Amino acid sequence: MYDVVVVGAGPAGSTAALQLSRKGFKVLLLEKHTVDRDKFCGGGLADRTAELLFKIYGNEIKEVFDFRVNGVVFESPSGRRLIVEYPPEKFYSYLVVRSKFDSRLAEIAASEGAELRENNEVVRVRKEGDRIISTTRNGDEIESRYIVVATGSQDKLGEQMGIAPLSTDQLALCWGFEEDYDMDKVFKLWEREVGIIPVFLFFGPVPAGYGWVFPKRNRLNIGMGTNMDYVKSPQKLFRNFLSRVINEGLLPRDVAKFKV
Ligand SMILES: Cc1cc2nc3c(=O)[nH]c(=O)nc-3n(C[C@H](O)[C@H](O)[C@H](O)COP(=O)(O)OP(=O)(O)OC[C@H]3O[C@@H](n4cnc5c(N)ncnc54)[C@H](O)[C@@H]3O)c2cc1C
Repeated sequence: MYDVVVVGAGPAGSTAALQLSRKGFKVLLLEKHTVDRDKFCGGGLADRTAELLFKIYGNEIKEVFDFRVNGVVFESPSGRRLIVEYPPEKFYSYLVVRSKFDSRLAEIAASEGAELRENNEVVRVRKEGDRIISTTRNGDEIESRYIVVATGSQDKLGEQMGIAPLSTDQLALCWGFEEDYDMDKVFKLWEREVGIIPVFLFFGPVPAGYGWVFPKRNRLNIGMGTNMDYVKSPQKLFRNFLSRVINEGLLPRDVAKFKV
């Protein structure tokens, strides 16, 4: 019997598994896919997030940080830009590629004692006396004293334990892509237009939300997030947003070729 079953090996689950293993608990970390799969995400680490990661995982976690920007550009609905250059000593402003980031966190949790099982989806959880039984899609029944459900925003497992489902106004609709790209082409434009290599946040083209352009070392991440109730055609909205950014000279024209 395990002390704790942690369901979901995203950053939350892997970090919970790591911390519990360090405290001496016998931990099983179950992930429904493989930990190195791509998840659509901006991958931007706020400085407090990066600080916390250094504290928990140590400086070696830096190896998996893919890129560092030196500022942020906010663009208002009218197109005015606020360009903020970070003082290098204060802000971390790293970006990660999720497949590499998530797999490294899970790997570290496993190296410090958590047992990691990929391709193991938990489909049912029930309580029997003081034990919790997690049933996987493969039909295994796993016993533990405690369970941590870290399955992200998509999963319904929490509902089986009485956690209220999220309502549509608590959920964001996100649309975008991350693709390999020759980033030198992009950085040249940014040096000319804004003088720094930042992350961009655009307010205006996306109602009740915002669009972003995040650079990685060899990848370009562009997306938008908004409230589901506001958008009838996300594809069209995203294309309009992308055209605006291209027309402003912030992205090369061939970026429009990528599928969302
Ligand atoms: C488009 C988009 C852009 C974003 N950009 C940023 C950003 O730039 N910066 C930032 O900090 N955050 C960003 N976020 C938010 C960030 O992705 C989440 O906060 C983060 O992934 C949450 O981590 P988590 O571990 O809670 O969940 P997740 O990363 O979702 O991990 C949950 C894991 O549980 C697994 N799982 C689910 N159900 C089961 C099950 N039944 N059994 C076993 N395993 C299961 C899943 O496969 C998954 O690996 C973004 C999110 C989106 C959607």
